[in-house]
Amino acid sequence: MCGIIGYVGYEDAVPIILDGLKKLEYRGYDSAGIAVMDDQGFSVVKQKGRLTALEELVRKSPIAGYMGIGHTRWATHGEPSDINSHPHLGSKNKIAIVHNGIIENFKQIKERLEQKGTVFVSQTDSEVIAQLAEHYYNGDIIDTVIRVTNALEGSYALGIMCIDEPGKLIAVKKDNPLIVGISDKGNFIASDVPAVLAHTNKVYYMNDKEIAVLTKDGVSFFNTDNEPIEKTPETITWSIDSAEKGGYEHFMLKEIMEQPRVLKDTINSALRSGENKNLLDSLDITRFNRIVITACGSAYNAGMVAKYVFERLCRISVDVELASEFRYKDPIIDENTLVILVSQSGETADTIAAMREAKSRGAYTLSIVNVIGSTIAKESDATLYTLAGPEIAVATTKAFSAQLVLLYILAVRFAHKLKRITDDQQEELLSEIAALPDKSYELFEHVDFIQKYASNCVGYKSIFFIGRNIDYAISMEGSLKLKEISYIHSEAYAGGELKHGTISLIEEGTLVVAISCSEKLYGKIYSNVEQVISRGARVLFIGNCIQAIPDDRLSIIEIPKVNELFSPSLSVIVLQLFSYYVAANKGLDIDKPRNLAKSVTVE
Ligand code: GLU
Repeated sequence: MCGIIGYVGYEDAVPIILDGLKKLEYRGYDSAGIAVMDDQGFSVVKQKGRLTALEELVRKSPIAGYMGIGHTRWATHGEPSDINSHPHLGSKNKIAIVHNGIIENFKQIKERLEQKGTVFVSQTDSEVIAQLAEHYYNGDIIDTVIRVTNALEGSYALGIMCIDEPGKLIAVKKDNPLIVGISDKGNFIASDVPAVLAHTNKVYYMNDKEIAVLTKDGVSFFNTDNEPIEKTPETITWSIDSAEKGGYEHFMLKEIMEQPRVLKDTINSALRSGENKNLLDSLDITRFNRIVITACGSAYNAGMVAKYVFERLCRISVDVELASEFRYKDPIIDENTLVILVSQSGETADTIAAMREAKSRGAYTLSIVNVIGSTIAKESDATLYTLAGPEIAVATTKAFSAQLVLLYILAVRFAHKLKRITDDQQEELLSEIAALPDKSYELFEHVDFIQKYASNCVGYKSIFFIGRNIDYAISMEGSLKLKEISYIHSEAYAGGELKHGTISLIEEGTLVVAISCSEKLYGKIYSNVEQVISRGARVLFIGNCIQAIPDDRLSIIEIPKVNELFSPSLSVIVLQLFSYYVAANKGLDIDKPRNLAKSVTVE
């Protein structure tokens, strides 16, 4: 999830672009770069590391220009390095681009161009865009951009400059955000409004495949047939602070809302093309007789969900261990054990120690992390990357969801390799997973209801979450989310355990959140719901097979139907929204809950 910005106008582009990049750094900070154009051609400065390193470089060797593009990177293809930093130029130094997104067919395009003699310098998917644009360039940059975008599969937001068409800044997007800002001193493109808000509050929101051509004095838009189109600018009324959160009050809510996109990117990376897919294709599971998943916090809960999926599909025994316990327990593992490590940051101290312990005993370590180049990614035997982009809120939402879908896909692919499921079954299960992003969008229809319901929950001292099997596993994440950000005590229980103790805590007005996405177990969990209601509880019942009628004690949130093994990806979004709105109604510092840190790098 990189950030891009561009400017063409009457002022020097360099300070405008560097300033805009600061506002976009939340989208990635593996590297930063800038290319400006003046009468002499392009000047490019780019470097691995934070934006401050780029600023220092530009201070030492100043560059200037009336037009430029800038980039702050969250690497998806190719390690964070100087050479992989954007902007990328074609070999003839005629076209410069910045890219946010993933080009899924970059390998095919690269091979084709290499056969024709193009020499690539980076490992990124993005470089193919610059090289292909130079290859197609015929004196008309709009026409070239249309041909390039027709050839690309995947997602992109692009800023493009061509040496032969000075003064024209081109922008186009598909599936990634891009805005065009207009002002008297020049015109702008950016991934997000905050990057331009210091200069203008008049912006156009680009739609997929529309092409914008910006000059010093104006902007024109074209469709994919190179015909002009009309667009109306909008006036932004947000403050800078709320603009950084995409207009949401907190990063957490913004990140919850980003989940359909994150799910799509992560699923595509594992099923269509890229390093995740390559690894899943090549990994030999048949030599393992045991799987251990070890992690902390929400990542541990993702492991708890995955246990049900792996055991059901692969018929292999799976243990889920808290990394802080696993590292000291003298674990029984050997070279036939697959140890899966799950960590958003890839720097979680306990998970690093668990990984080292597992490796020292000969186990094969497979990590699922969000940050390329992190310690766990570097030291584990193999890594699957979640494509969640930087997560700012301390309480994880989108990274958790991305971990879950990778674990599902891993389980399905393993089950197939182990011949526990047929080709057809594999296909059916993977297509159920591929449908999750669209289904997750549908959940946002419940936002108003959840917000209202949550506003009546701020007074609770304690809230219980119940479910059975996989619904129990995801209720653990619901409970953790609530306590992390709302400071309300909460616990998750397997429905059947209630009568073994917990039911004594149920009294008049206690709130119980029950989850039911397994038709087979609906009757069982419904009995638990009746038991707690008859003891005075209120119940919020979330599921996709609920047959009960709501009343003043029972409220129901229906979620879309999906194979029960993958239903946690949908129920968790409702649980996240519920926790968020309870905390928001309490007026708490949701993005930075007390006593917590984003990446727990100490024991
Ligand atoms: N795929 C590009 C890269 O790795 C852009 C990354 C992004 O937008 O997240 O450089």
